[in-house]
Amino acid sequence: MSGGVWVVSRCLLGEPCRYDGASRESAAVRAFQASAGGTVCAVCPECDCGLGCPRPPMSLSRDTGGVVRLTDERGVEQTERLLAWCGACVERLRGQDVRGFVLKSRSPSCGVGNTPVAGCEHPGDGLFAAAARAAFPGVPLLSEWEVPGGAEALSESTLLKRVERVARMLLAGSEACHDWDHTLRVRANARRLMEREPCDRQVVEAATLLHDIGRPAEVASGGRLDHAAHGASLAEEWLRAVGVRDESLVRRVGRCVRCHRFRSREPGARPTTLEERIVYDADKLDSIGAIGIGRAFHFAGGLGARVHNRASEALAGASYGREDSAYREYLVKLRHVHGRMLTAAGRELAERRHRFMEAFFAELNAECGLEEETTAPKK
Ligand code: SF4
Repeated sequence: MSGGVWVVSRCLLGEPCRYDGASRESAAVRAFQASAGGTVCAVCPECDCGLGCPRPPMSLSRDTGGVVRLTDERGVEQTERLLAWCGACVERLRGQDVRGFVLKSRSPSCGVGNTPVAGCEHPGDGLFAAAARAAFPGVPLLSEWEVPGGAEALSESTLLKRVERVARMLLAGSEACHDWDHTLRVRANARRLMEREPCDRQVVEAATLLHDIGRPAEVASGGRLDHAAHGASLAEEWLRAVGVRDESLVRRVGRCVRCHRFRSREPGARPTTLEERIVYDADKLDSIGAIGIGRAFHFAGGLGARVHNRASEALAGASYGREDSAYREYLVKLRHVHGRMLTAAGRELAERRHRFMEAFFAELNAECGLEEETTAPKK
């Protein structure tokens, strides 16, 4: 800090001003402050606007009009109060020689481009960081990890907890076949596979949590966007936002997300590393067996398709139409999945689930008087 004013989040300087009465003192920020001179303007937007300490935790969400709102866990909105303080603060700072801002990451008030915002697929600025960015264009806005020596060593469990929070937020409201429950089942499958296939668990766990975060955008685009490719970019962006500084880890997780799709549209998006193959297999396992049948009927029901039909009817019908039954999904896709698994452990689990589906549809055909369906040669 060579002269001028640096605006710093007060919790980074050791003040116990967080919502839970704790601080987030950063030795790197203190060293940065001590070595560079200049004046520090310590701010805590949430305390300084009168919210008190401790206070209920808050988060950001985007409303249907596209406005980002700050709400506490009781549902009480604090947007106007905080924005009023931000406006007064930047006005006070305007007359000063402001050299930069060092602000606490991921905070709904202070986060610099790395705060989760429910309803947005990308991380964003906290409300104070956004006000500072608008009022001081070109002035550095840094998170605490961006000052020299400030990159935190992120433990695996902290990283995965942060990733889990992000994935859960991004999948809120997803259709049931690809919702948070699906993500948890895929992670459970991956853990089973990893018992037999030793690999980099952190990469696999993070990738399973993030593998479908591109789905909501694919649905919103009417299928034009490829959720695997889009999800890979989002996954990499979010990993950096939650504090991952190891670019190799970011890229390996991103690649697992890019490669997980059964019918990938991207040339070269074929899983190659063990981690990529495990994430692919874990996802495929959730599409077959009892859960696969359940998902197929659920999806067909959502389309208004028939409960059951003949193979000839199913195969002659169009996708997303009346004949797009669970049986059609089985004939077109699910019965081929077991032959496309990429790990030995995955193949074993898939064989068992495949036999269950064969038995199920044979029984269904028998109950419906369609035995010839089951004995007919496969196409
Ligand atoms: Fe205060 Fe910002 Fe720290 Fe939150 S992140 S406690 S608002 S200084």
